[in-house]
Amino acid sequence: MPFSNLGLSQKIYKALDENAYKNPTIIQERVIPLVLENKDIMAKAQTGSGKTASFVLPILQLLLNKEEDKEHKGKAKISTLVLTPTRELALQVSKAFSDFSKYFENKPKIVSVIGGESLTQQLLDIQKGCDIVVATTGRLLDILDKKQMNLSNLEFFVLDEADKMLDLGFEEELELLLKALPLKRQNLLFSATYPQKMLNIAAKITITALEIFI
Ligand code: AMP
Repeated sequence: MPFSNLGLSQKIYKALDENAYKNPTIIQERVIPLVLENKDIMAKAQTGSGKTASFVLPILQLLLNKEEDKEHKGKAKISTLVLTPTRELALQVSKAFSDFSKYFENKPKIVSVIGGESLTQQLLDIQKGCDIVVATTGRLLDILDKKQMNLSNLEFFVLDEADKMLDLGFEEELELLLKALPLKRQNLLFSATYPQKMLNIAAKITITALEIFI
């Protein structure tokens, strides 16, 4: 199946073309249409499966739809939060959001909220207004603790490489963070494995998720 059957904007196809994405991977083919239908997803996906684009592309499309619905006014509000286990992955995800929104008239503002880099700069970037936050848990909780981030307009919550997050011992942090999120949101979970511990966490995040186990 070509990408053109997935119902994405020409603005996204143009960027896909530039990045030599010709056909969707299996996970992209399965996940993208469901995210566009605003479904919660629990997907089993290894690194290398193309899982990043499977959530980045439909989220960008949904943000674009909203953009076309109404004039963009005022400061951007955080609509999307992606949580990753490592800084490297957070930066990769941020880059994917930026690469694939290259041809949007109003490009979403993306902030990587990660440890090891200037907290002051990240706070400034958040205060200026941003649409998408890609974060690692420690730094995100730090900023939430300081009451420096408003997540009340959140629409999309993505947990990427969730099993790795549990392996690194972030279970408690994750539970704390969940308490800071608005209840009404679309949840997208990606994990290479689903041991019981992972299923327990998943049940705290969503009870309506469609399982994409391929
Ligand atoms: P991921 O599993 O998301 O880390 O992606 C693994 C690699 O595959 C990354 O380098 C992506 O840029 C690339 N990739 C993902 N989807 C596609 C696609 N549909 N066509 C070509 N390359 C892709």
